[in-house]
Amino acid sequence: MKSVAINGYGTIGKRVADAVSAQDDMKVVGVSKTKPDYEARMAVEKGYDLYIAIPEREKLFNQAGIEIAGTVDEMISNTDIVVDCTPGNIGPENLEKYKKIGVKAIYQGGEKHDLTGLSFNSFANYDDSYGKDYARVVSCNTTGLTRSLKPIDDLCGIKKIRAVMVRRGGDPYQVNKGPINAVVPNPPTVPSHHGPDLQTVMYGADITTVALLVPTTLMHQHNLMVELENDVPLDDVIETLEKRSRVLLLSAEEGLGSTAEFMEYAKELGRSRNDLFEIPIWRESLNIVDGELFYMQAVHQESDVVPENVDAIRSMLEIEENNEKSIAKTNKAMGIF
Ligand code: NAD
Repeated sequence: MKSVAINGYGTIGKRVADAVSAQDDMKVVGVSKTKPDYEARMAVEKGYDLYIAIPEREKLFNQAGIEIAGTVDEMISNTDIVVDCTPGNIGPENLEKYKKIGVKAIYQGGEKHDLTGLSFNSFANYDDSYGKDYARVVSCNTTGLTRSLKPIDDLCGIKKIRAVMVRRGGDPYQVNKGPINAVVPNPPTVPSHHGPDLQTVMYGADITTVALLVPTTLMHQHNLMVELENDVPLDDVIETLEKRSRVLLLSAEEGLGSTAEFMEYAKELGRSRNDLFEIPIWRESLNIVDGELFYMQAVHQESDVVPENVDAIRSMLEIEENNEKSIAKTNKAMGIF
């Protein structure tokens, strides 16, 4: 049983903690917080040992009546691997600590690829992280792109990808983010960073992306135009995506014509936090015109990267050599289709 510490118990960290707890080959040894807020209190109520990132704040946790197990330095000294889920750009400082202690670490998509020089996706490059000390699970958007593009690439090869990324303005709890009433080219220059990010896991992919921010918190939405290397019938593409786990073909015709309805569907699944770990693709959007495949998909940004973190742990700790075996194990433990 390998031990896992979660540094940063926020949107991603709390989900990764629960996903690790659901596996039978790894366990959570602790989670960390900077502030004695409701998440800290609930982490302790759930039974996680809570460590504090800023030792000088011990008194604040004591005053709030939230029991702490120690400091982050103590937590990361007693684990096989750290999943760093702190906000983007805190990574470089933490990496120094991990290196000093000699503990492996997994970062999230808010950090730059250069921090670890190795990015991870379960479908695309699981083997490259096998036994490695540091890697970064690519962002929610890049994970979404890889989930649908890799099986298509395996089926018939991809010549060129163009994608329009419609991004949520903030996560549901982020009351200070926006826009509230605008569509914002973000960035207003072309290309956006998403294409280069995909190339960190699908090496050599010819991809250009543009991105917009819109006033929604539910999901991101992607519009893809994919020039195929070899001619294939649309039915073969549909069959490939239907067979692929962590990808769902859902129909507007059945009442799932928007991201709001996808999230309602997720509620019906009855999972913790109403998470939709899979990437839903609108079935009707799939079409091939002059050798170019078109489709539209969405990304539940709060949860799609969570199973990838579990697989990254198995790869880096050499628990499982085969990516599909790890994917199947993670899926089964988390009830993922
Ligand atoms: P978040 O703000 O929800 O959570 C971060 C947590 O880390 C908070 O609980 C905060 O208190 C804690 N923290 C802050 N500084 C810390 C420190 N020095 N040490 C320990 N803990 C600290 O952030 P998030 O959305 O979970 O994002 C975490 C990472 O995941 C980022 O790299 C982000 O880009 C990436 N990511 C986020 C999303 C998303 O949509 N939220 C999706 C995919 C990837």
